[in-house]
Amino acid sequence: MDNFENHIPKASIPLIKKWIKELNILVKIKKSRNTKLGDFTVNKKEEYLISINKDLNKYAFLITLTHEIAHAFVWEKYKRKVAPHGIEWKITFKEMMLNFLNADIFPDDLLRPLSKHIKNPKASTVNDYNLSDMLRKYDSNKQLILSEIPDGSVFSTLSGRQFVKLNKLQKRYKCKATDSNKIYLFNPLAAVALLDNK
Ligand SMILES: [Zn+2]
Repeated sequence: MDNFENHIPKASIPLIKKWIKELNILVKIKKSRNTKLGDFTVNKKEEYLISINKDLNKYAFLITLTHEIAHAFVWEKYKRKVAPHGIEWKITFKEMMLNFLNADIFPDDLLRPLSKHIKNPKASTVNDYNLSDMLRKYDSNKQLILSEIPDGSVFSTLSGRQFVKLNKLQKRYKCKATDSNKIYLFNPLAAVALLDNK
């Protein structure tokens, strides 16, 4: 059976195990989903379940797992009384991550974007472009991303829908769907496949 311990930096295992035991969480390693990196759910019996995508590199895996365990701590304390990514979750996640912000666990080039990230963590790491970009360096099979293809390219997303890449706004890219001509804003790190322009 695939175990989370195989997916995170060695030095982070004891603390992660302690949290998981304390909260009695079941962690499942899932096939890659494009829509999310991981999730936290509570079932009818009030059991905690976390699922994480298996293709994340060990640093992204640790960040995602800590993100989801933070949800479990917040749920334990506040149940439905607070927003999922509200201030309670942000503080919890930050305190948990501080345990890992050292050179035994993360490479040097990740420490700075990570310490910036945890000051005001976003609901999804994918929306922290700086951090995601750094994390990508550690992926073993690199996926082509939107920011790497030239403006004007026709591409398809992983769901198969086709778009034309237009121009960059502040952070995101304007793209036009080829079927409806509707304009969408894309994360620069969106996984894409280039299509023939003709
Ligand atoms: Zn979350």
